[in-house]
Amino acid sequence: MIKDNLGNINKELPSGVKLVAVSKFHPVEAVIEAYEAGQRVFGESRPQEFAAKIAALQNAEGRFDDIEWHFIGHLQTNKLKMVLPYANLVQSVDSEHLLSEIDKWGRENGRKVDVLLEMHIGAEETKQGFTEEALLDLMFRLSDGKFPNVRVRGLMGMATNTDDEAAVDADFERIDSYMAYLVDLFPEMEAFDQLSIGMSGDWKIALRHGATMVRIGTAIFGERK
Ligand SMILES: *Cc1c(COP(=O)(O)O)cnc(C)c1O
Repeated sequence: MIKDNLGNINKELPSGVKLVAVSKFHPVEAVIEAYEAGQRVFGESRPQEFAAKIAALQNAEGRFDDIEWHFIGHLQTNKLKMVLPYANLVQSVDSEHLLSEIDKWGRENGRKVDVLLEMHIGAEETKQGFTEEALLDLMFRLSDGKFPNVRVRGLMGMATNTDDEAAVDADFERIDSYMAYLVDLFPEMEAFDQLSIGMSGDWKIALRHGATMVRIGTAIFGERK
C-alpha cells in the first residue's frame, strides 16, 4: 500500500528532510493515491511523462494545484518547453550548456528557475553529472552573476548502484563534503543550501551525509514495470 509505505518512510525521516516521491513509470492514479495520503512533492524523469501527468491532474478543478513537481531525469534542451513551465525544481542539471539554455528560457519567460547541479559521484561511467573541477569553475561564474535567470539551490547526486554499503557511504561523503566546501567558498550564494541524495536502497545512508531531500520511488510505489 502506497499509504503505508509513505507512513513508514515519514516515520524515519527527520523533519527537515524533504521526501520527493518518484512516480516515474507509474500511472497518474498512483500519484493521486499518494496525494490522498498527504504526499505533496513528486519527481518525474521523462519530459513526456512529466507533462502528461501534470496535464491529467490539471483537469481536476485545482484539486492538485499544491503539488510541487521536481524534474529529476536527463533533460535535453529541445524538451525545456515541456518541463520548465511546470517544474518547481530541476534537480538534474548536468551540463553548463543545459544551464545556459534554462537561463535563456527564464529570461524569455520572465522566470527565475530553481535548479540543482548534478555531481558525478557513482562509479558508473554512464551516470551524468559535473566533476568537482567543472562544478568549481561554474560556481565561480555563477557567483559573478552569470545566468541570472537560474537560482542554483544546491547539488544532486546518485551513488554507485551496489550492495556495498561502504562504497555508497564514500560516494555520499564525497558530495556532502564538496557541498560544504562550496557553501564555505561562496557565502554570497545564499540559496545554495540543498543536497539531494538517497533513493529507495540508500536513503538511510544519505541521511547520515547531510541529505536535505531524498528521492524515493520503488519503496513507495513498488517495482517499475
Ligand atoms: C528513478 C530515480 C530515483 C528513484 O529510484 P528508486 O530506487 O526507485 O527509489 C531517484 N533519483 C533518480 C534521479 C531517479 O532517476
